Amino acid sequence: MSMKNYSADVVIIGAGITGLWIHNCLNNINIHSLLLENNSIGNAQTLSSQGIIHGGTKYAIDGILSKATQSISDMPARWRACLNGKGDIDLRGVRIFTNHQLMWSKDRLSSKMASFFSSKALHSRVQIINEQLRPEMFRHINYTSQLYRLNEPVLDIVSMIRCLVTPWQERIMKISNDSNITWSQKKNKVQSLTLDRKIHIAAQQFVLTAGEGNEALLTSLGMKKPAMQRRPLRMLLCKSTNKAQILPIIYAHILISSWKLTTITSHFDENDNIIWYIGGSIAELSIGDTPKQLTAKAEILLNNLMPWLKLPTLKWAAHTVNRAEPKQSTFSRPDTSFIESIDNIHIAWPTKLALAPNLSDKVITVILRDIKPTEHEKLINVPAVTIGKPLWDRAFK
Ligand SMILES: Cc1cc2nc3c(=O)[nH]c(=O)nc-3n(C[C@H](O)[C@H](O)[C@H](O)COP(=O)(O)OP(=O)(O)OC[C@H]3O[C@@H](n4cnc5c(N)ncnc54)[C@H](O)[C@@H]3O)c2cc1C
Repeated sequence: MSMKNYSADVVIIGAGITGLWIHNCLNNINIHSLLLENNSIGNAQTLSSQGIIHGGTKYAIDGILSKATQSISDMPARWRACLNGKGDIDLRGVRIFTNHQLMWSKDRLSSKMASFFSSKALHSRVQIINEQLRPEMFRHINYTSQLYRLNEPVLDIVSMIRCLVTPWQERIMKISNDSNITWSQKKNKVQSLTLDRKIHIAAQQFVLTAGEGNEALLTSLGMKKPAMQRRPLRMLLCKSTNKAQILPIIYAHILISSWKLTTITSHFDENDNIIWYIGGSIAELSIGDTPKQLTAKAEILLNNLMPWLKLPTLKWAAHTVNRAEPKQSTFSRPDTSFIESIDNIHIAWPTKLALAPNLSDKVITVILRDIKPTEHEKLINVPAVTIGKPLWDRAFK
């Protein structure tokens, strides 16, 4: 069988948020980027995400404005510029679920949170919502906590992926998911890669944005570093079983001592049913639970978080997924986005979807140091990749 030859200035491997963002930014500045995906676009962490464009407030509730909080604090503004068509990428087609998230707390943590949120550092990011202006579900006589509004949007990930795919779709290539990759190198620099001895792609720079898949790609390159850590999560999804009693739409972080932090976002399946997607401590602490144990735990959790609310009978599902991050000595969460360059190979993990623009800046800075944009033949008959199915349409069996 004859070899198919392609060339690009930059090859990016992995079409989650990171690969898509960098692919757009490079092509927009006339650096020819070719993005390879071995599954469906977004299928791994990106389509599992809650779509929150964090500004760091959630990470600051222990009362300390950590390094993580500071590095992420300008992300909501950066994304808002894109959502308004005035940023590096035009995201005007993205569905914004909410511009502001809610936050409340109960028991002894409530006063700690109140004093922290009233601090100067967070004043512009968090506001108290007056009783009269509260959403309906909080106007109940038994709701007695303070309710806060966080200046952080929540986006519909599927519409976001569509916006990122469309402009340079003809430069996104499907490759087989059990492809055997071989690399050819000259003077320590990778010149090209070959897939299953069938497809040969030459480029000046290579960016690995394959999330968890970066580990196997590094192995194929004979590299042991940078090391990666996996943080397994068991996310919960629920929907009402009764069409006449739907779940309220809510985007919130809730802090109570017994459960630490819980985050609930609302999404819509193909029949427009409202799905609550629940993460936070429960997702980290439920990995070994049976489905029955998990459902029982989740029902208790919701009763603890919203004791004043009469919820409909719920159907539950769980989604297990790993977060892929650069290895930390204490297995802690990395503070910010990560890139390490080994000659012309750049290994990247954003650690949070919200940090994709920040990571893209870093990657493009290193690429621009050593690239000569070249004319490449138009890519014809490139195997097309589909966008992954939304979680809401596949999690409930
Ligand atoms: C449950 C959950 C909820 C989250 N919620 C949020 C949130 O609300 N806000 C936030 O900021 N962050 C959130 N995150 C983090 C965020 O989702 C991730 O940091 C981000 O999506 C990582 O994107 P990525 O493109 O680096 O990786 P991924 O999305 O994992 O994409 C990697 C891609 O590479 C492909 N691939 C793998 N191997 C290969 C290969 N050999 N060849 C070609 N392609 C390959 C995969 O198929 C995949 O499409 C959440 C994460 C999880 C797990």
